[in-house]
Amino acid sequence: MATIPTTCIFCGAKPLSREHIWAKWLGRYIPKVYGRTKHAVTLGQFNRSVQPGRFHGSSHGNSAKLKVVCHPCNNGWMSRLQMRAKPWLAALAVGNWSDLETDAQEALAAWVTMFTMVIEFADPPTSIISSYERREFMRTQSALPGWKIWIGRYDLGDRGVFNHLSALIAEGPLYSEAAHHPNTQTTGFSIGKTVFQVFSTRSRHVEEDVGFALRYGLQTIWPARRTIRPPTTLHTFATFMEMSNDFANRASGDAPLTAVPLDLSRPGRPAA
Ligand SMILES: [Zn+2]
Repeated sequence: MATIPTTCIFCGAKPLSREHIWAKWLGRYIPKVYGRTKHAVTLGQFNRSVQPGRFHGSSHGNSAKLKVVCHPCNNGWMSRLQMRAKPWLAALAVGNWSDLETDAQEALAAWVTMFTMVIEFADPPTSIISSYERREFMRTQSALPGWKIWIGRYDLGDRGVFNHLSALIAEGPLYSEAAHHPNTQTTGFSIGKTVFQVFSTRSRHVEEDVGFALRYGLQTIWPARRTIRPPTTLHTFATFMEMSNDFANRASGDAPLTAVPLDLSRPGRPAA
């Protein structure tokens, strides 16, 4: 189980630098108060309980910060990776859709991977991404094998969304219930008029992306296979949550899923 990091989650260096989660130019697409942000945690299989996220309360939206990376990473390769995705992100944030070629999908998927790896540390106890995966990501600056990333359209009004869930996929009879830490995560979030949904696991489960994309009117951007047309479905907050909770609902059987706001501004503070 991960704890609050004391060294850079990517390169292991010190000191950590307190950085904005959202780049300044992206901040304008993130509501100032991200108070309707949803955060829920669930453990599937053995333990069917659904727990609120560790952090909740009022959120600081586009000014939220996390102290999990070092200054050289943040201002070096992470910044360059962000610049690579920026032309497409900026267009998608305002709903300016066009066909996306594989290089666009790869740039966006890499950025989404970086965001997912950082934001996971808003709630260390439910983080599941391995340090090996983070090192591989830093080395290749590409989304990772086995990860699935989808893109969709979103009709937000003033309502941004964020939904992180972690779940356990049991690995057969040798699996010890004593170590029932989650091994799978899904993260969904909006950037203006676009939503991204991410799936990754440390288990051997293979999530099938084509059916998921069809079911929810999304397009798969990772793995990037071919040029994609704009997604068909315009998601609302309700349909986004249904889509974003899909995997966890399957993992946790019929357990109801409750969601509470995530306070990105106060990492390390347990839920009251
Ligand atoms: Zn670093």
